[in-house]
Amino acid sequence: MLLRVDFNVPLSEGTVQDDTRIRAALPTIRLLHERGASVILCSHLGRPKGKLVPSLSLRPVAARLAELLDEAVEFAADCVGPAAQAAAARLRPGGLLMLENTRFYPQETENDPTFAGQLAELAELYVNDAFGSAHRAHASTEGVAHFLPSAAGLLVEQEVKFIKEALSSPERPYVVLLGGAKISDKIGLVRKLLSEADALLVGGGMANTFLAAQGLDLADSLVEQESLPVAAELLAQPGSRIHLPVDVVVASEFSELAEHRVAKVDQIPVGWRAADIGPQTLEQFSEVLRPAKTILWNGPMGVFEIEIFSAGTRGIAQAIAGVHALSIVGGGDSVAAVQQAGLAARFTHLSTGGGATLALLEGQTLPGLAVLQV
Ligand code: ADP
Ligand code: MG
Repeated sequence: MLLRVDFNVPLSEGTVQDDTRIRAALPTIRLLHERGASVILCSHLGRPKGKLVPSLSLRPVAARLAELLDEAVEFAADCVGPAAQAAAARLRPGGLLMLENTRFYPQETENDPTFAGQLAELAELYVNDAFGSAHRAHASTEGVAHFLPSAAGLLVEQEVKFIKEALSSPERPYVVLLGGAKISDKIGLVRKLLSEADALLVGGGMANTFLAAQGLDLADSLVEQESLPVAAELLAQPGSRIHLPVDVVVASEFSELAEHRVAKVDQIPVGWRAADIGPQTLEQFSEVLRPAKTILWNGPMGVFEIEIFSAGTRGIAQAIAGVHALSIVGGGDSVAAVQQAGLAARFTHLSTGGGATLALLEGQTLPGLAVLQV
């Protein structure tokens, strides 16, 4: 069984800094192992750009997996060719083998069919549990499925179930919260969600561009000039359900030691920048969230990585945690914020897919999933 996982984890000096993604794949790995499959795991790690980069080896990741499973995990120093073939051939039923980083080959991201065929040769069946990579048509996520009978893993199944099914007919009121740095990354998402949600609450850097599109002076805040027309167009839609901040935490700079205070959005001082939503906005947004039956959240409400600008994001996480609703949070930074707040267990689903989550929310077909037979 060739099992594609998303073990693209943060490493520092050869140790895994955060094993969330490894843990997320454990149910599928355990199931295959217990059913007696010989499991060959493959993944990418970082961006080695088609070259062997020793600091991006998956060897320490295989070691962490072995610890988590309390099972031996073999490691092959190559993902195709003689080393991989010999290790795969030695594998017994129930055995586990981790292959080296697929992105050490440029053919991986090129979705080269010959390379995909070489991966496929190692196994008889293919399972894709790499939800975080499913929006990319690469050799190990898409190409290989053309050569082998294929199926989705449990993590992929769960992600798709929550995001697609829950949001295709959401129980109402359906409230969407968007934040983060940029509109341009997420414009497709904003359009789609605006047409479906009963209310769209916008905070974070994204709100700045909407506020600027209303003619406000955002001083030194992050504003995407090129997105002003589209922001204005969305606000002008008849019955627009976009809610924007009324106050923000303004700062002299983005740093722990920055001078900061609360200001109304039409009173941002020259040379200052919006870094978080203000308390009145938090209250108003919480009020809109209270009766919600379905809540979707993507993007922090402020520069939450810096403690003095994290209150808005944490307050929103607490507000959602206190509502009896189906709650989904997606996006790397937003999920990290919920985890930091210690509120992960109070959400229905934390989607760790990043770009894949956003693509699925937008209603795109993910190439890594479309190609699977089951
Ligand atoms: P996610 O990973 O959840 O999809 P994004 O990557 O879109 O979220 O956005 C997260 C980033 O947005 C964070 O690094 C945060 O600091 C930044 N951000 C949020 N609010 C602001 C703001 N007002 N000004 C500048 N950056 C912001
Ligand atoms: Mg992010």
